[in-house]
Amino acid sequence: MRVGIVGLGTSGTTLACLLHDAGHEVTVLEQAADPRPVGAGIWLQALGQRVLDRLGLLEPLRAVSRDVDRVAIHTASGRRLVDLGFDALPGATPALGVHRGALFTILHTAVRERGIAVRTGVVVTGARPTPSGIAVETAAGDLGTFDLLVGADGSRSPVRRSMNVTTRDHSYEYGALWTIVEDAGADRHRVDGTLYQCLSGTSDYLGVLPTGRTGASMFWSVKASGMARVLEAGLDAWRETAAPLAGPYAPLLDRVEELLPAGYRDVVVRTPVRVEGRYGAALVGDSAHAMSPQLGTGTSLALADVWSLAHALATHSRLAEALPAYARERAAHLRWYQWTTRLMMPVFQSDLAPLAWPRDALAPWVARAIPRTLIGTLCGDRTSPWTSWPLPGLDPV
Ligand SMILES: Cc1cc2nc3c(=O)[nH]c(=O)nc-3n(C[C@H](O)[C@H](O)[C@H](O)COP(=O)(O)OP(=O)(O)OC[C@H]3O[C@@H](n4cnc5c(N)ncnc54)[C@H](O)[C@@H]3O)c2cc1C
Repeated sequence: MRVGIVGLGTSGTTLACLLHDAGHEVTVLEQAADPRPVGAGIWLQALGQRVLDRLGLLEPLRAVSRDVDRVAIHTASGRRLVDLGFDALPGATPALGVHRGALFTILHTAVRERGIAVRTGVVVTGARPTPSGIAVETAAGDLGTFDLLVGADGSRSPVRRSMNVTTRDHSYEYGALWTIVEDAGADRHRVDGTLYQCLSGTSDYLGVLPTGRTGASMFWSVKASGMARVLEAGLDAWRETAAPLAGPYAPLLDRVEELLPAGYRDVVVRTPVRVEGRYGAALVGDSAHAMSPQLGTGTSLALADVWSLAHALATHSRLAEALPAYARERAAHLRWYQWTTRLMMPVFQSDLAPLAWPRDALAPWVARAIPRTLIGTLCGDRTSPWTSWPLPGLDPV
């Protein structure tokens, strides 16, 4: 098939490799003129690691990551709400704390090594069915047609807009300011192995994630409408506000040189696919289901999508069967993470301050009562507290 993929992010690059290896003629279209490795650290769950492993990319990624196998949540008053290790669930694979840029470099290199066609500086504005395939639209006119067009173009996806399948597209009031600092040398502050979060009410939190071999990402919860004010007040004012939440990582605050803004969206689609005669369109990753990063799950869900789509195309001879099979395969898994993150958002990042009290009262009890469910959810493959999603073609059902 002639496959067009819009977006050279995590899902676009990975899908391009999987479909190229399956013998399809793949072209990737990316808006950035010069795509670069940028962005904060991410927590990469076991599920996403398994997909990268199939492409032989997990070992190179491990070499530039650190295992994260503990989650600690405290309050600003010093109370420990949760301190949970992955050993609570026998056999659980630790997450990786990795620089988003390192993941991009590895995936981008895999695309280049395969000789996959990548057209950069192409801002796709939409897509529509024509008698010769799905046409890709840009401000300068159509850019050719494809048998299958995949929107891997992130939370504001123009491909999704053209498919007319969006049922929810909502910007959260809260987002985060983030930065990456060095945590190396004799005076390192041991962010090793633990995702640390400290909460004050429901509006302030500081997160610290081991990132790469020697770094740490810091996330500061802030209302989108107040980000500019925090940035204008300057780093020293921010350090003063953040210090009571930084616990043992307070010395890292002095290493912060800049804070960068990130917004969160909640996107739901009726179906991530459209079939038009012999041709079709599909959505993967954030274009199909952007969500708040409370569970650090977006990258793994994106990788699960592309694995699942590639598997559906390999096991069905017609697009009219393969695309609905992909949509069915992904539904339950996505629903669980969409609902869980949506429920967590007001408890961790909102103006609903009274929610902090039941949260702080119940969190230690929940961590003691259902540690396996919590760690299972953090591994990325749950469909309910009791069931998990097998990667099609890889895991026994
Ligand atoms: C602050 C923050 C922290 C996060 N932390 C984590 C974490 O710890 N763990 C985790 O798993 N996930 C995390 N996520 C979520 C994760 O970043 C996303 O789920 C993931 O990047 C989705 O990948 P994607 O390929 O679908 O989209 P993207 O990575 O957004 O890639 C989309 C690509 O499409 C291109 N594009 C967009 N529009 C067009 C267009 N019109 N034409 C052509 N190209 C276009 C973009 O330039 C980009 O290259 C976090 C997100 C945020 C905001």
